[in-house]
Amino acid sequence: MSFIDLEIYSPVQQINHPLFAERGLSVFIKRDDLIHPLISGNKWRKLKYVLQKARAQQKQHLITFGGSYSNHLLATAAAAALFGFKSTGIVRGEPVDNPHLFLCRLHGMKLIFTDRERYRNKMQLFDTYFGNDNDAFFIDEGGASAEAAQGCSELINELDEVFDHIFCACGTGTTAAGIINGIDQHQLPTCFNGIPVFKNGGFIAAEIEKYLIKKHDYQLHTAYHFGGYAKTSAQLIKFIEEFIPLTGIMIEPVYTGKMLYAIFDLIKNNYFSSGSKILAIHTGGILGLLGYQNQFSSFKNTHPYL
Ligand SMILES: *Cc1c(COP(=O)(O)O)cnc(C)c1O
Repeated sequence: MSFIDLEIYSPVQQINHPLFAERGLSVFIKRDDLIHPLISGNKWRKLKYVLQKARAQQKQHLITFGGSYSNHLLATAAAAALFGFKSTGIVRGEPVDNPHLFLCRLHGMKLIFTDRERYRNKMQLFDTYFGNDNDAFFIDEGGASAEAAQGCSELINELDEVFDHIFCACGTGTTAAGIINGIDQHQLPTCFNGIPVFKNGGFIAAEIEKYLIKKHDYQLHTAYHFGGYAKTSAQLIKFIEEFIPLTGIMIEPVYTGKMLYAIFDLIKNNYFSSGSKILAIHTGGILGLLGYQNQFSSFKNTHPYL
């Protein structure tokens, strides 16, 4: 029975932009997207202790939940294959095919589609399909759990410098909670800034606080949802289309694009005091770009044919 771990490669890199120099700010990005091509970013951190728990309980079959573009589903499929588990994904909505689900299946994940009504009660779905399966191990949608928050808190152990601000996109808020716990444990003066990717993202505060070990201040910037989860706008697409060639770092419209857009916008609005050091967490998920290809002007070949 092998132990479950990955060697973390996630360097902190500086991003340069005339706007940063003009405002006397330094901006860095922690490349959690480089941890693994599919178990990317926060998804490895969130799964690590969950998978260790499954193994300790001698469970062989991971059961989890997600939408058809879920990075968590794909990360679980890839991690299951890598560490010798079977996996089943319960997918919200009618049967579809897309690059994410193709890659899930390619890693051996069985997919069960279910309507939105039944999808709401995940424990009941688990019981219906796997109640009698002693091997089955339940992993909540998005991997949300105390173990996931613990895994994410370890990101802070890897920092060699002290930052004034850390920014991260928030879905379930588990990653945010883990990072805030890490900041608290190391007694850093760093302010955590979360960018909820949902409309009316204020509800994320309650989700974050579920997993906080101690009460700790943080900021949520709820105005950067671009219409809601997985919604985008011409403005956001344009931002991503400028950011990638400028930095060589891929970002996407669902999470990291919104988070980095927020940083640029807050800088323009003089949110930061001069001299501040800002760290953005690249939480991975770049395959999310594939659901939006045709909205990018780069999608079309505009080169002359000679
Ligand atoms: C899942 C995901 C998040 C959100 O993480 P939570 O812990 O659910 O808040 C952020 N960024 C990317 C790229 C993700 O795939």
